[in-house]
Amino acid sequence: PLFQNATFFISAHKLSDLPAQTGIEVAFAGRSNAGKSSALNTLANHNRLAYVSKQPGRTQLINFFALGDERFLVDLPGYGYAKVPEAMRRHWQMTLSSYLSQRDCLCGLVLVMDIRHPLTPLDRQMLDWFCPSGRPVHILLSKSDKLSRSAAMLVLQSVRKEVTQGWGNCTVQLFSSLKKQGVEEAETIISQWLYP
Ligand code: GDP
Repeated sequence: PLFQNATFFISAHKLSDLPAQTGIEVAFAGRSNAGKSSALNTLANHNRLAYVSKQPGRTQLINFFALGDERFLVDLPGYGYAKVPEAMRRHWQMTLSSYLSQRDCLCGLVLVMDIRHPLTPLDRQMLDWFCPSGRPVHILLSKSDKLSRSAAMLVLQSVRKEVTQGWGNCTVQLFSSLKKQGVEEAETIISQWLYP
């Protein structure tokens, strides 16, 4: 796998903790429980690179993983967990919006959505923050093993149509960490971003 040498680099709690913009990074975002940690682990072929068994909403850190050659994968805090206190929710919304709209070395965003609950209001919010810059978004419709092939294809087509019309520079694919489906397709896109 492409990212098998990923190693933990640093955790940032707030914008001022972010590492200097010396390289190129790709960020992973998604609703709590969407399957983001599992997707990162699958792509990095590295069990527990991002902890799968964490409590939803608790991992409120921006985690950087180094790939070498000044390339980084960035695991953003999961959003949408109902039990997060309002003040913390606001802090993370501000942090995420600033990071997504202003981080110059961020070359692309991978947005993980549970295929059974795609394009939630907060997913749309992420797209609204990130897409005006013109940088690309790749959407992983995760846990695609939970639907039949034909049902999954219907969701794929409808999400693809909606994001293309609504935000422009977005690609969409099916993904399953459980069945290792869509791994190559995701790796191809992400590595084109990181190693243009
Ligand atoms: P995160 O909160 O977005 O990081 O989500 P996790 O990666 O921790 O996954 C949330 C839950 O979904 C866990 O119980 C995982 O085992 C499950 N899950 C993740 N990916 C898949 C998948 O591809 N297929 C299935 N069936 N379950 C998955």
